[in-house]
Formats: sequence, C-alpha cells, structure tokens
Amino acid sequence: MSHRFTPTFTPPGSSSRSFNWLSSTATNTSKQSKMIASAARAISTSNKLPSRKHYKNTVTIVVGPEKEPYTLHKELLCFYSDFFRAAFQGSFKEATEGRIELLDVQHESSTADPSLPRHTTLANLWVFGDQYQIPLLQNCAIDAIIKKTELSKTFYIGIVKIAYQNTLENSRLRKLAIEICVFDMTHIGHEQSIFGDDQMDNWSKEALVDFARAISKAWEDESPWRTLPVHDKCFYHVHSEGEHC
Ligand SMILES: [Zn+2]
Repeated sequence: MSHRFTPTFTPPGSSSRSFNWLSSTATNTSKQSKMIASAARAISTSNKLPSRKHYKNTVTIVVGPEKEPYTLHKELLCFYSDFFRAAFQGSFKEATEGRIELLDVQHESSTADPSLPRHTTLANLWVFGDQYQIPLLQNCAIDAIIKKTELSKTFYIGIVKIAYQNTLENSRLRKLAIEICVFDMTHIGHEQSIFGDDQMDNWSKEALVDFARAISKAWEDESPWRTLPVHDKCFYHVHSEGEHC
C-alpha cells in the first residue's frame, strides 16, 4: 500500500494554513518567492540525488483533520521543498519543535498501480507541489500527465478546473491543460466535446478566456490543426533561473 498526500482544494487566497506567510495565495506569492530567493533552492531536476547527510534528523508532519502524524527526514524535506526548508530551518516554532501541522491536506491511501495514476491524481500532486514548493514533484507530475495523455489518447477536462481553482495565472498546469484542450480535443458537435453539457462545470470564465486567446493565437500563427505544439522538454517544468533537466 502506498501513501500520498493530496491537498484539499482551497481556492487561492482562502488558505486556512497556519503558516500564513508561506501559504500559496495569489497575494503573497511574489513576496514569498523573494524571501525564498535568498536561500538555497529546492532541487527541480531528477539527476541530483540526496546523500547520507540528508538522513540525519527527523521531524513530524501532522496531516489532515484527523491529525495523522508522519515521521520524515528533515534534511530530505528541505532538499526537495522550499516550504519545508523555511519552516524547519528558520526561527519559527515549527523549527524548534520539529513539528508542523498541515491540517488542510488530505491523506489518501491507494492500492492502485502507482505507474498509472489518474489524471486528477497527477494534477492534484502538481498543485500540492505548488503549494509546498516542491518543484521536482511538479515536474514529474506534469511529465506524467503529458505521457498519460499521449499513451491513452484521452484527457480529463477536470484538470482545467483543478488548475484554475488552485493555481495562479500563467501556471504551467493551466498552460498545459489549455494547450491540450486547444490542439488535441474535440470542441463542437460531439458527445466527447470538451464543451459538452456535462463538462460545463469544469470551465470558469478565466479558463474560457485563456482558451479563446490560445485559439486566436493558433489561427494567427497558422498552427497545424489537431497537432500539439512541440516544446523544449523543460517548457512545462518549474526551474529556478539557469536550471534545466
Ligand atoms: Zn526541466
């Protein structure tokens, strides 16, 4: 049985996390980025592995409303997440107590084949990585969404809703979801259309505007119909400046 954390989908700006200055809200992200920028950055490429020094101390993460405790290596958390580095290497009580509560995160147990997670699970992992500043998790999740979409020839439109409810303007997840919708999906006159009656709940005004702009740009650029644009492999990745897979 594998365990993973899946965030509760609190719309940006309404997070109830006690770590207010670190929570992923629309208003504090740039401030947050500036604060983090001066510190070492969490790794975002899979070719950098943790070493023995990342397994020295442990901390407790208390997850969800049931307050389920997990004991994890502190240095490992800090290696992968700027959020946890700020929490455990700063002067906050979380650092001195070696304990943090993530009460708005939901714990999920799964026996499903981990090699084939669902589209929604992958999108939720991307959002979790965004909220807790774990770029490598975001990059692995988005690569898996692309691969799954290619292999299965299907896409779950609910990702549009997840992306627009939980991530900021111009996020890579939004960009990917809209691009797949524009270039790889049926728009009209088909029961599997992304604008079918049963899909309306997945479209916000903001998402529709982005879709319309992307369609306009595709016309303007004379992009080939039903063909996903070819990008550099890091196009959808989250990296700090100068970093590349
Ligand atoms: Zn990359």
